Amino acid sequence: MEQPISVTRSNFNDWMVPVFAPANFIPVRGEGSRIWDQENKEYIDFAGGIAVNALGHAHPVAVNALTEQATKIWHVGNGYTNEPVLRLAKQLTENTFADKVFFCNSGAEANEAALKLARKVGLDSGVAGKSGIVAFNNAFHGRTLFTVSAGGQPKYSQDFAPLPNGINHVAFNDLEAAKAVINEQTCAVIVEPIQGEGGVIPADIEFLKGLRALCDEFGALLIFDEVQTGVGRTGALYAYMNSGVIPDVLTTAKALGGGFPVGAMLTTDKFAPHFSVGTHGTTYGGNPLASAVAGAVFEFINTPEVLEGVKHRHQYFLDALNKLNAEHQIFEEIRGQGLLIGCELKAEYAGKAKDITTWAGEEGLLALIAGPNVVRFTPSLIIPEQDIDEGIARLKRALAKLAK
Ligand SMILES: *Cc1c(COP(=O)(O)O)cnc(C)c1O
Repeated sequence: MEQPISVTRSNFNDWMVPVFAPANFIPVRGEGSRIWDQENKEYIDFAGGIAVNALGHAHPVAVNALTEQATKIWHVGNGYTNEPVLRLAKQLTENTFADKVFFCNSGAEANEAALKLARKVGLDSGVAGKSGIVAFNNAFHGRTLFTVSAGGQPKYSQDFAPLPNGINHVAFNDLEAAKAVINEQTCAVIVEPIQGEGGVIPADIEFLKGLRALCDEFGALLIFDEVQTGVGRTGALYAYMNSGVIPDVLTTAKALGGGFPVGAMLTTDKFAPHFSVGTHGTTYGGNPLASAVAGAVFEFINTPEVLEGVKHRHQYFLDALNKLNAEHQIFEEIRGQGLLIGCELKAEYAGKAKDITTWAGEEGLLALIAGPNVVRFTPSLIIPEQDIDEGIARLKRALAKLAK
């Protein structure tokens, strides 16, 4: 076989549209919660591909599902359905509030579908002007024009005006503010049960309950964006299960494919028929390869052992982080649920989260930020305790650089 073309990190700057600024090494191989770069340097993975690699790297369950399906059929187009997608739909509907699923390829697409469904339901209601969407400051819903507009971080949307209109943003966890803008003209309220990109900020249960009541009162769809919190991340299959609040629409992606791109919008029999034949679509959504992997990943995660294991690891992580913090006094707050953990920096270290992840890389640890002041960890849901220990030891060395 011919040798592959030799490439280096500097080629990123040569050939890639510069929307990202990746680390100065290139991961080439992974196993479990460890990865290796081109120089064969080893890293502990506390980033998990941003809450995606739920089973770590190269897990046999995912590898087998992918390779088995790869020898059968890859793609048929939506003129035909396929077995893996129907099995996955059965799993998702049997294990959640939902009755129906629309498949796509990413979180943004799942939210795009959710918001379009809400607009369509609003139109079909016959109530004039029922197209208003209520969203929250600091939220993140993806990068399409509609989802970036629904997101509550103007830095991601303002350069792309004119934006879709009819979207109202109010303060997160402020029920009175939401009450002031939700009315008969509202077709949807979209909210993350835990704001992930926005800094790992959990929604108060009373806030979610209040939104549920307001949506019921005014006939608006309650959309939970569980792209980051879904598929076991919080120790529940979906985070709504921790709150007792049931949405009308739920979006899921990231961990769903364990690293294979897939997204889904879940809804009920009450709303699904509004997306009638031809009203929405996608070429790749529900592709057999993606569905086969997602089905295997979902089945593996949706067990008491794995979900309890996430809660156990949460405590293990928090104990280690709190111990580290008692020594170094770097974090103001350590928060989150399950294996979605955010460490907010003390005021004197404001803006240093990115530096910490860079130093972590030097020490052999992959970590994330969630805004300039929060270091975020979203590792594999089955990360071994010894990898947590080793990762924390490396984090400790990275934090020592901060003190200097
Ligand atoms: C990552 C994320 C998205 C966007 O998902 P993509 O797959 O990047 O399009 C949307 N919502 C939330 C809450 C996310 O964390």
